[in-house]
Amino acid sequence: MDAPRADGAARLPLTDLTDAEVTAAVVACGGKPFQARQVLHWLWRHGVDDYAQMGNVPAQLRTALAERHPLRGATVAKADLADDGTEKLLLRLRDAETVECVVIPDGERTTLCVSTQVGCPVACIFCASGMAGVKRNLTAGEIVEQVLVARRRLGAARRLTNLVVMGMGEPLLNLDALLPALQRIHDADGIDMGARRITVSTSGYPRQMERFAAADPAYNLAVSLHAADDALRRELVPTSSAPVREIVEAAHRYFGRKGREVTYEVVLLEGRNDRPQDAVAMVEVLGALPCTVNLIPWNPVEELAAARGLRRPAKARVDAFADALRRGGLNVTVRRQRGADRSAACGQLRLRAAAAPPAG
Ligand code: SF4
Repeated sequence: MDAPRADGAARLPLTDLTDAEVTAAVVACGGKPFQARQVLHWLWRHGVDDYAQMGNVPAQLRTALAERHPLRGATVAKADLADDGTEKLLLRLRDAETVECVVIPDGERTTLCVSTQVGCPVACIFCASGMAGVKRNLTAGEIVEQVLVARRRLGAARRLTNLVVMGMGEPLLNLDALLPALQRIHDADGIDMGARRITVSTSGYPRQMERFAAADPAYNLAVSLHAADDALRRELVPTSSAPVREIVEAAHRYFGRKGREVTYEVVLLEGRNDRPQDAVAMVEVLGALPCTVNLIPWNPVEELAAARGLRRPAKARVDAFADALRRGGLNVTVRRQRGADRSAACGQLRLRAAAAPPAG
């Protein structure tokens, strides 16, 4: 991977080092360069959480490395398991900030939803993650660590099959960390997950979508559109400045370049964006494009429902919206509610942990 950083990598967790930096650390600890490959293999392929588990690495080298670099930076601060098997994890980072990731088992498939920022700058009106803005970007290591933690919790019982980058934060505003993190997750010497199983979701930044399209390999792209009308979209996603048509054009170029059909996500809010005219506008903008529209009836966040008068639409309204899109020629899926019984909506676990009095 990249060359060692100029400012040194002292005390960074091993997960935050490039391969070259791990090699430099191994040599600085008296090891041989080939032993760096062994260390990296234990770290990424086996996902060990203790140097002591690196069986073929000499004890002296393990001790010296452990003195310089903790293996990982994040710890599980809270785990919330819903009746349907969805497990939401709150991870505490080295600077005590917290982020969420969610493990979603569904038949043969197990999907992990990861975060890319602490908080989120996009401020969608229906989302708990955007309530306090963004504090900082996650590092590449902090993004990949979410995968390591999830894999470890699943153990041998279930294999992690899919990754969606749809948690806290706007992934395309942290491309400098996201791209190396995805590379690590995709790499055969890393986590070894196929690019077709990885989906990155953006709330629509055309310039960053171009940069994402220029990166290899071809990951799936999802665009959180929510509304096809510019004025309505600005109400729902107040920080969004790009017109809907520009966002859709950039997504279509992504399809042209990568051959991956784009999914448009629409969080449905009763009376706000689930009306017949909203479906008509969506058909006008997307109807002729090869794409799928994924409808997500809003997962209520108490704090927002009360303050902003938001409601989850009844099933009949969702069905009517979906039918209108289908009649307009669109491919439509409706997301089932998962883990709804326990702090399921994005950012809620973190919100509640922050509101709760400190333990002890
Ligand atoms: S829905 Fe996604 S983009 Fe919007 S505020 Fe929440 S985390 Fe950010």
